[in-house]
Amino acid sequence: MNAPAPRLFAFDNTYVRDLENFYVRWKPTPASKPSLIRLNAGLARELGADPALLAAPEGVEALAGNRIPEGAEPIAQAYAGHQFGGFSPQLGDGRALLLGEVIDSHGRRRDIAFKGSGRTPFSRNGDGKCALGPALREYLVSEAMHALGIPTTRSLAVVATGDMVRRERALPGAVLTRVAASHVRVGTFEYFAAHQGPEQVRRLADYVIARHYPELAASAQPYLDLLAGIAERQAELIARWLGVGFIHGVMNTDNMTISGETIDYGPCAFMEAYDPATVFSSIDHNGRYAYGNQADIAQWNLARLAESLLALIDADTDRAVARATELLTAFPERVAVHWLAVMRGKLGLDDSGQAGEDSQLAEDFLALLQAGKLDFTNAFRALYDVAAGNPAPLQALFGDAAGFAAWRARWQARQPHRPDALLTAMQRANPWVIARNHRVEEALAAAVDRMDLAPFERLLAVLQNPYAARPGDIAYTEPAPAEVTACYQTFCGT
Ligand code: AMP
Ligand code: MG
Repeated sequence: MNAPAPRLFAFDNTYVRDLENFYVRWKPTPASKPSLIRLNAGLARELGADPALLAAPEGVEALAGNRIPEGAEPIAQAYAGHQFGGFSPQLGDGRALLLGEVIDSHGRRRDIAFKGSGRTPFSRNGDGKCALGPALREYLVSEAMHALGIPTTRSLAVVATGDMVRRERALPGAVLTRVAASHVRVGTFEYFAAHQGPEQVRRLADYVIARHYPELAASAQPYLDLLAGIAERQAELIARWLGVGFIHGVMNTDNMTISGETIDYGPCAFMEAYDPATVFSSIDHNGRYAYGNQADIAQWNLARLAESLLALIDADTDRAVARATELLTAFPERVAVHWLAVMRGKLGLDDSGQAGEDSQLAEDFLALLQAGKLDFTNAFRALYDVAAGNPAPLQALFGDAAGFAAWRARWQARQPHRPDALLTAMQRANPWVIARNHRVEEALAAAVDRMDLAPFERLLAVLQNPYAARPGDIAYTEPAPAEVTACYQTFCGT
């Protein structure tokens, strides 16, 4: 039952207050025997919460949904979405609940939400639950992305429910507590555009401007500028993903935030050998969400957002379409600008070079990686090693591969000297370690099959410090055996 709980967070819930009709008030389904699997103490403190209170029995009861913390007003949010290109008018929080919002220690408003807390009015045929493996996977990968400096939702806690979840086999159930700048998605706009019309879309847009784009409040064309602002954050986000080999895996419009954070770590994975066609998701048969397609898909998703905003952009539909189209046509160029900045960082180039030439230098390096089926992360890190005075790893990777010596000579000529600041930036652009698929699977299997959390904790610790080389952790930098990668598949966390 949902007994009252201690005051864990200083909730202040604007979504509930300002946007009635945009959600359904709902309660989590209590767990039969909650136990804390993982608590993010640092994030808890950032949110103004006491980690010891959260880890105490009453805190764990709250993190399982058995007690509603004081000040929380749990809701299931309504949203729609284009999934693999087809429109689903009614998605919504089918296994998630927003508990409420807090202001963190940096003054930022953050959502605190559950995933796996039981059925809601949006559950359709789903059970509203989350298995322990996918919850730990989201925890691991979202925290890894955060450590890489990439905007992302965070993971505050994983609690095992003590109940089993039916999937292909019976699996232990869990509740993940997710923290986000907000959970407003492209699909949230699509829902209200499809079901309620422009005035409700305007309320949502005004809410989003106040919360995420306050600088637009005084704009003469706030809704077009909002589209531009969202597109700009997405352009940068995608470029950052590309820079670490991240493949989201299910870039449906309901999985694209308005805030510019990465959200929904279902079938995501990191690429090892460089190939833009890389796709791991078991349900992505046509490679729609492959590594190299992500910028195109983001643009496609933004076009769906633009359609939802048209009536706000201009009362004259033709004019609204023309303005939105002009803006979105420039999206690939915006991604290219951010991509070049990412690649300059990775190659250790200052920004004195000619953009076209630097882009070509990056493209040519990627072509060498693809031809040699070389590991993306390790190859770039080896470039950093060269710059830092150790040419051995790069030589070991490329040997006398055709074209490599010529490329290396061009690279060296382009930036013969790197001042300390540039070298530091280069290190920060080239992680030493990423969440490699076989390591993630190994950690989750130990947790789920044997309740052994040691590999998970160990991997998490390694991923929380991705830029510094540590000889003792070298095994975590090794790519998966080729036969593992060849048949590696990820699954939606349902
Ligand atoms: P996702 O693929 O996780 O982005 O989810 C897409 C939609 O399916 C969202 O509306 C989810 O709330 C819903 N959903 C996913 N898994 C479940 C589940 N186990 N039970 C109910 N709804 C679910
Ligand atoms: Mg989703």
